[in-house]
Amino acid sequence: MQITEIYKSIQGESTHAGLACVFVRLTGCNLRCSWCDSEYTFIGGQRRTMEEVIEVVENLSPGGGLVEITGGEPMLQEREVVPLMQHLLDAGYTVLLETSGERPLARVPRRVFKIVDVKCPNSGEPDTFHMENLDCLNLEDEVKFVLSDRGDYEFARDFVARHNLDGRVKAVLFSPAFTKEASAARDSSGCLLDPRELAEWMLADGVPARLGLQIHKFIWDPAMKGV
Ligand code: SF4
Repeated sequence: MQITEIYKSIQGESTHAGLACVFVRLTGCNLRCSWCDSEYTFIGGQRRTMEEVIEVVENLSPGGGLVEITGGEPMLQEREVVPLMQHLLDAGYTVLLETSGERPLARVPRRVFKIVDVKCPNSGEPDTFHMENLDCLNLEDEVKFVLSDRGDYEFARDFVARHNLDGRVKAVLFSPAFTKEASAARDSSGCLLDPRELAEWMLADGVPARLGLQIHKFIWDPAMKGV
């Protein structure tokens, strides 16, 4: 499979935020979100066998722990990434899959915790969510909306209600998009949507979602790679 990087850091998002995690970042994405912070994954990378990937993961986190399969869009390499996830599960790892939601997820192993995006209008990639994926979600999974304005918020709020999302998954995440500016500060001034404003909207509407901040952007320089 084509790999951009494998490294250990702190999980910055999801209900696993704050935990040590090995990130396996696959190369390539078929979407072009306006606020994407992973454009360096679109091309390049190195060809690695499943055995080579597992060896790196075991060196970084011997005997188990948290591993996130991410990208780019990892499910573009489904033929190789599904066996990789199964091997990691069998070896005792807790496996997260971070995906755009555009690819079918039916063949993801049941014990993988899926973190599935639904792209909002202002992402530049609206209507890309694969609706059949709603039937693949289970009570350990999470659905994430990255928001950059009020229109995105209303889309996400209404999508959650229309599809009873909070009853289908462990968590629904509303997360402000972060600027791509290399000079952004390690604080909420880098958010395209003010978290305080988002919090007030969520409280006013009683949205059954969790406000999520990308904590790695507050720990390290927001433009830093491999963290
Ligand atoms: S799906 Fe993810 S990697 Fe692909 S463009 Fe959007 S944010 Fe970037």
